[in-house]
Amino acid sequence: MTFSDDEIERYARHLVLAEVGGPGQQRLKAARVGLIGLGGVGAPAALYLAAAGIGALRLIDDDAVALSNLQRQIAFDTADIGRPKVEAGAATLTALNPHVRIEPVAERLSDANAARLIEGCDVVIDGTDDFATRFVVNVACVAARTPLVSGALGRWSGQVGVFTGRPCYRCLVPAAPPEAETCARVGVIGALAGVVGSMAALEAIKLITGAGQPLAGRLLIYDGLAGAARTVAVAADPDCPVCAPV
Ligand SMILES: [Zn+2]
Repeated sequence: MTFSDDEIERYARHLVLAEVGGPGQQRLKAARVGLIGLGGVGAPAALYLAAAGIGALRLIDDDAVALSNLQRQIAFDTADIGRPKVEAGAATLTALNPHVRIEPVAERLSDANAARLIEGCDVVIDGTDDFATRFVVNVACVAARTPLVSGALGRWSGQVGVFTGRPCYRCLVPAAPPEAETCARVGVIGALAGVVGSMAALEAIKLITGAGQPLAGRLLIYDGLAGAARTVAVAADPDCPVCAPV
């Protein structure tokens, strides 16, 4: 795989990084990342992944752009209101980096299609805000042995974790909380989406290039009001219905 003059200049700041360089940039170009949900986490993550020169981005979302999305989902603009998110997102990402192949999938991820939708992805980023979907994504990623980057946000805080098998996301969240909080209900500060989405993109880039230590088995919790972050270990649940050995 070779790079054009345009790509060499475009990725110059990656190419001089010891942990990326030519081989790392080649791995990014050869990779496909699946984004489940183009919302507060997925939209900014997709922008940085496209800019980074990921070979293919599979955008999975069945929603249309709403005016209330624009406060944080900066892959869309005012003229996109009413357009399918995957279509509007594809246009933005292609304009940012025409070298990236965009695979728009305007489907709602479910038990029935999850395995097919993540097939061929080297990393999956889950930014959905409902636990039922998160559990389905986790099952599909564990079964396919695909690393899962999970990002979530609400109010003023967010979290990012990486799951590469065991422990899995279900070990962290054994059951959906009875009163799950959504951003629509409790609010979210818009800039936080940039923080969490960028951290999710960064973890995907680390997994693909092999740079540094991914957040595997750990959860990074960012408190925007305090301006503080902490990392906690995620323990493997001996009774996990998804990843525990049988
Ligand atoms: Zn598990």
